[in-house]
Amino acid sequence: MKKSISLVISAYNEEGNVKELHRQLSEVLTGIKMDAEIIFVNDGSRDRTLLYCHELQKIDKRVKIVNFTKNFGHEAAMIAGMEYAKGDAVIFMDADLQNPPTVMAEMVKLWQGGEKIVLTRRKNQANPGMIYKMCQKLFYWGLNFLSEVKIPKSMPDFRLLDREYVDFLKKFDERDVLFRGMLSLITDVEKLSVIEYHSPERLSGETKYKFSLRSIKLAVDSVIQFSVRPLYLAMYFAIVIGFISFGLGAYVIIEKFIMGNRVPGYAAIMTTITFTAAVILFVLAIIGIYIGKIHLETKKRPLFFAEYFEK
Ligand code: UDP
Ligand code: MG
Repeated sequence: MKKSISLVISAYNEEGNVKELHRQLSEVLTGIKMDAEIIFVNDGSRDRTLLYCHELQKIDKRVKIVNFTKNFGHEAAMIAGMEYAKGDAVIFMDADLQNPPTVMAEMVKLWQGGEKIVLTRRKNQANPGMIYKMCQKLFYWGLNFLSEVKIPKSMPDFRLLDREYVDFLKKFDERDVLFRGMLSLITDVEKLSVIEYHSPERLSGETKYKFSLRSIKLAVDSVIQFSVRPLYLAMYFAIVIGFISFGLGAYVIIEKFIMGNRVPGYAAIMTTITFTAAVILFVLAIIGIYIGKIHLETKKRPLFFAEYFEK
């Protein structure tokens, strides 16, 4: 049976891009020679994005439109497109031509060769400085230390998923979705094939995200949604403070009652403060761990994902 692919394109105020994207996609699709559907998810745009998508639909019956009643965000748009897609593989891409359609041809080739997921990695245009590189390394090291899932760096949402993996993703019933982390729950992301590509400037319009705010949100969500590790760290920290307070207490007692020396008043105060802080932090961490476990449990994530082979 001939296989087909679905392209899911989330578009928010992309009137300057959708037509050119469609033109480039059509060119690439001609080369791929597969059935395809091009799903534009209009994420509540306030410009002529929807109008242009309708115009495209008139000249190309592969074009399908999912129109959001208001702006629900990039993640929601990808999910809506994924749920609507009928192809044997789904490719997610941005509407601004920062995900070059030519890379799509490479993805499809790998998929035809048996890969179930094809990821991409952006090559930075300019060579970033040493300090930037070090900060980035530190950021991802910290992130992966705190979170229990692996969050690879520079991994855009531009990716191909086989139908089987699309169905895996659909089993998640989460409200706060983070695709990157969820892929790590499904499979060993380290083993997946990755295509490196050069990401050009967006063709038209402006980015909807401020880099720093987005990466802070990404970092916090990557930890909170997958891990209670920070709470355990708080508990270990409380234990360390507890030991310090015992040390201080022992010093005060030995100096005053055994050695008979005068002990400065702040030593006793420090002992009390550190001890109280340790007890409070310890109890809070325990409460936090319980809440964290409830939080993860409410997501009712599948226990495993498996492929089944039969003769
Ligand atoms: N996008 C969306 N809804 C939003 C914000 C962005 O569908 O609320 C789309 C946007 O139209 C684009 C893609 O998500 O196709 C990536 O957004 P953008 O190019 O602004 O992000 P950047 O590439 O700068 O990270
Ligand atoms: Mg972009």
